[in-house]
Amino acid sequence: MQPQSLAGVLSINMNSPAPSRVVPALLRQLNERSVLSALQSRGPSSRAEICRHTGISGPTVTRVVAALIDAKLVEEEEPLQRAVGRPGKIVRLARSGVCVLGLVVGPDHCDAVAASLDGQFDEAADVRTFATPAKYDDLVAACVRELRALMGRRKGTVLGVGISVPGLLNRREGRSIVSPNLHQLDGRNLGQDLEDRLQIDCIVLQECQALCWAEQVYGEARDTADFAMLDISAGLGLGVMQGGRIVQGHSGLAGELGHVTVELDGKPCGCGNRGCLETVATDTALAAAVGERLGRIITIDELLADVQAGRIDCREELDRTLDYLAVGVAAVINIFNPSKLFIYGRLFDAELPQSGLQAQPGNVFERLLARVERRALAPCFADCKVVRARGSKRLGVVAAAGHGATHGRS
Ligand SMILES: [Zn+2]
Repeated sequence: MQPQSLAGVLSINMNSPAPSRVVPALLRQLNERSVLSALQSRGPSSRAEICRHTGISGPTVTRVVAALIDAKLVEEEEPLQRAVGRPGKIVRLARSGVCVLGLVVGPDHCDAVAASLDGQFDEAADVRTFATPAKYDDLVAACVRELRALMGRRKGTVLGVGISVPGLLNRREGRSIVSPNLHQLDGRNLGQDLEDRLQIDCIVLQECQALCWAEQVYGEARDTADFAMLDISAGLGLGVMQGGRIVQGHSGLAGELGHVTVELDGKPCGCGNRGCLETVATDTALAAAVGERLGRIITIDELLADVQAGRIDCREELDRTLDYLAVGVAAVINIFNPSKLFIYGRLFDAELPQSGLQAQPGNVFERLLARVERRALAPCFADCKVVRARGSKRLGVVAAAGHGATHGRS
């Protein structure tokens, strides 16, 4: 079912016998999209700023903003400072009356989140975390229950739901093909199943794409058309944006760097192959390698806590993990030549004690960068800024839901 979005309104019939009425309607819709895009990518703006950023004339911006205020998609706020002369009011995406929902599905737990259209949410009140059920039907039921609970609290009209899932996703259909770390999703279309039950538009993203959205809408990738994102956690995901669009490949499956073979006779991978990069270059791989030496299972959280407390020395395993990871990062830099490469992962939050890193100064991220510099082609590395991602998958699904509600699913 179409929510109260502009997306449905835009589907006009180009063969209409009454073009004189259709064309102005189309132009109005295009202008509304441009204004919403400007507000989503640049944040609260005056009408004059919107004119500058969109190239739309002043009177048209005034008309479009009035229509969007009527539709409850944008709101006005008072300007913070009194400028010279009469300052115009600031326009922003709506914080009340309407909302968007997000769902981050992970191997261990899921996060459901409710946010305003401008992406604001309260970590305590608007986020519900629950363990990921082992059976698909239970997963759908849990997602419906938690999202409905958030809708009950938020009250406003829900414009859409953004959902991130791990694994191989046919992005065009929103169907999970195989999810090596979450097999209950294999062959399923979680977005469609939730849409049927909730009667709200759902957009499904690969989790790395959600991180791209977070960085593009709220982070350091604003105004950056060519960048890449590496998600290093249980798996190893890659998202590449070129010319402002995500690289999808023929079937929407591009970016599966984690399943490139790096050890011919390596460990089995969740995908069915052996020796994939993600079996040796993720935080889960690090914990597994240390656990093997210790003869017990240890999670990455337990490992990081033990290392920081000086109870475990994981120098060797960490070096090996970073060595392999550097090969993956260098490959992305060499192949895609991004202006920025964002790296997301808890591993880099760890302040490992110097005693555990003898004669190896620098934090974990800096040590990774030194290895990447050795592996990547010098001209490609020199042209690429490698930084830590500061966004989150929660922010990404919220951004995608907001965009989907105001722009359709394109
Ligand atoms: Zn694999």
